[in-house]
Amino acid sequence: MRPKVIGLIGGMSWESSAEYYRIINRAMRDRLGGVHSARSLMWSVDFGHIERLQHQGDWATLEGEMIDAAQRLEAGGADFFLICTNTMHRMADAVAGAVSIPLLHITDPTAVAIKAAGHTRIGLLGTAFTMEQDFYKGRLAARHGLDVLVPEADDRRIVHDVIYGELVAGVVRDESRALYRAVIERLAARGAEAVILGCTEIMLLIGPADSTLPLFDTITLHALAAVDQALLDLKS
Ligand code: GLU
Repeated sequence: MRPKVIGLIGGMSWESSAEYYRIINRAMRDRLGGVHSARSLMWSVDFGHIERLQHQGDWATLEGEMIDAAQRLEAGGADFFLICTNTMHRMADAVAGAVSIPLLHITDPTAVAIKAAGHTRIGLLGTAFTMEQDFYKGRLAARHGLDVLVPEADDRRIVHDVIYGELVAGVVRDESRALYRAVIERLAARGAEAVILGCTEIMLLIGPADSTLPLFDTITLHALAAVDQALLDLKS
């Protein structure tokens, strides 16, 4: 029996999709040894198109794009799939319902790791869509019992603008790192015990050395969970 084929809806942005690919393949090599790597498929979208629709609030068209991507992965032979962005989990239920292969939801391995570390009151950094709408916080609260704290409005704007103005274009600036550090400090002052990096590009900007609070990096947790799932039931 061979590892399952991991399906990846990527390109949102490709800067983070490249990290998914790297993390998954390194982890597979570490788990299986030698020159083993993951069996995977990625359908990578044009983020310029996606980003415009997001900021227009055209979530219906975006849902169609994600369903199309998932169906392509299923037709290509993926055994299960990931949406390689937090924001586009907004339509996760509809996308999962449109295919017969399972979706590995990004909040699930994230919440498992947070709870294993004993945290309940947790700060969330991500796009404005992720921080302000209910699809993400609501699932963390309802399904996992976490108390999610988002930055105040001015800080949410800073976090969002750095993602869309810099990180998705591969721009990493010390000034923006300092801004994020300050946002995390303000979350800590309001009682956050740890912080979710709830956007798959934030790890390009900050890491544990930038935070007095523990960080839960969604891209890493999601990618490693994909490797676990691909190896589940594997007999040597
Ligand atoms: N990759 C980001 C996320 O995890 C933002 C890009 C997007 O809007 O999909 O939310």
